[in-house]
Amino acid sequence: MSSLLIRNAAHIVTCDHQDRVYDHADLLIRDGVIAAIGAVDQPADEVIDAAGCIVYPGLINTHHHLYQVFSRNLPQVQNMELFDWLRTLYEIWKNLDGDVVYHSSLTGMGELMKNGCTTCFDHHYVFPNDHAEGLLERQFAAAEDLGIRMYASRGSMDLSKKDGGLPPDSVVQSVDRILDDCRRAVERFHDPAPYSMRRVALAPCSPFSVSEELLRQSAILARDLGVRLHTHLCETKDEENYVLERFGMRPLAYMESLGWIGSDVWYAHGIHFNDEELHRLAETGTGVAHCPISNMKLSSGVCRIPDMLRLGVPVGLAVDGSASNDGSNLLEELRVAYLLHRLQSSHQAPSGYDLLKLATAGSARILGRDDIGTLEPGKAGDCFLVRTNRLELVGADLDPKSMLATVGLKGSVDYTVVNGKVTVREGHLTRLDEGVEAERAAALVRTYLAR
Ligand SMILES: [Zn+2]
Repeated sequence: MSSLLIRNAAHIVTCDHQDRVYDHADLLIRDGVIAAIGAVDQPADEVIDAAGCIVYPGLINTHHHLYQVFSRNLPQVQNMELFDWLRTLYEIWKNLDGDVVYHSSLTGMGELMKNGCTTCFDHHYVFPNDHAEGLLERQFAAAEDLGIRMYASRGSMDLSKKDGGLPPDSVVQSVDRILDDCRRAVERFHDPAPYSMRRVALAPCSPFSVSEELLRQSAILARDLGVRLHTHLCETKDEENYVLERFGMRPLAYMESLGWIGSDVWYAHGIHFNDEELHRLAETGTGVAHCPISNMKLSSGVCRIPDMLRLGVPVGLAVDGSASNDGSNLLEELRVAYLLHRLQSSHQAPSGYDLLKLATAGSARILGRDDIGTLEPGKAGDCFLVRTNRLELVGADLDPKSMLATVGLKGSVDYTVVNGKVTVREGHLTRLDEGVEAERAAALVRTYLAR
């Protein structure tokens, strides 16, 4: 038994169905689960004095490539679009190993947590032939060391340059080897129970690095194992042209022909869907992970979020890999998303609060989780606290629901709580010496990039 009482918060923004906000309220978490919200008159093992704080549900990241934290801000790719950018970066990524995966995961997830994220999905799809073993093990170890809720994926590529794909030969594997390892990863790490800290999805990389056979077999295996399916789709016009030329179908029709549609599937980006395809996503419950910064950086286009929300397409928020972001901060993503859609869609744009719900309840939905994403009794004890007595927030808390998107937060959150445990306190990770890790990781980046 362990309990945490967040006492006397100025506001608790729940993001629940009734859009409730509690003023001057307490929140009690017992054994990792929210036990009460409101006026709580019960003792607890630990008490946070939340006077002057706003409490929000933990943010949920629905698409990332944590290994890319170690290939950011590289001058040679700054002016490129997706296909050339990938071809250039694969020459670096083919040298990754377990240490790169572990330390880039610590760095990226540490930054996410300092900015209010409590659940991270990662799409790891680079398995170099010399270092293919044990990569997910290292990623789960990093998550456990930090205390974040981890949703990993066994990504894959089997279509190299010689077969008309983009990646080099040394990072692709055979369909059989991939499927065996997918099954092993699910059996070893996937915990389907409520409040689970570890889940696994199957996530072949993209239509231009994966064969039809691998996509088809991955869908069959995922349903056999009861896990979710994820990949990149409709990110660029180059991808659309590639699929049209090679298969004579638009990307969504191609994926649907291989079993990739339904409420157990979510796609990263989803920019270039037409009207008919948006209706198809809505009626099948197929989700989209919105990655605005990456889409802007790579000149990929603007995802049709206002139309998706109007039609009821499940949508969540994501940072995407750090090579196209170039960081891991969902609060920054939230504000950029807000501004991007204001610019693009004016009156039709989602409000700041709509976007907060997208990054919490919306993200939970596309990850297939009903135990996270809102602050309600019975939900997981995942939240973060922002003190409003900061110079940059003076007068900004008039509308606590929209503040994070319309005003934005400059600097770390004050507390992040995952599963009822304080993982960020006074803006710093509680389980990691940030200075020591920053030095160690920086040294590893230099060795890795020199390979
Ligand atoms: Zn991506």
